[in-house]
Amino acid sequence: MSTDNGIRRKLFGQVGTIRDADGNYEPSIPELQKPLQGKSTILRLFCRQCGTLLEITEREAKILALLDETELPENHGEYYFDVSPCRLCKKNRIGQIVRLLPIPRG
Ligand SMILES: [Zn+2]
Repeated sequence: MSTDNGIRRKLFGQVGTIRDADGNYEPSIPELQKPLQGKSTILRLFCRQCGTLLEITEREAKILALLDETELPENHGEYYFDVSPCRLCKKNRIGQIVRLLPIPRG
């Protein structure tokens, strides 16, 4: 196997899975579809880097919407924020990627 890797390295450079290094998590759709538990939360945030699914307040949601250069839709319960990184995985670096996406149905 080491020979195979040696050949690959010659052909493609460093062997490794970039996806894993970036922690490219995918959200669980059934989890996204669950009713919110928090009293003051209005939608969820999913972090692709650490895989965390959080409920966020309207205030946080408005800040994220600004970063995504969008506005919170009236039916915001049908959406979630897809971010990378989040405030849990890297301090003060939220917002490199922020997207407001519809929760997949079905
Ligand atoms: Zn994170």
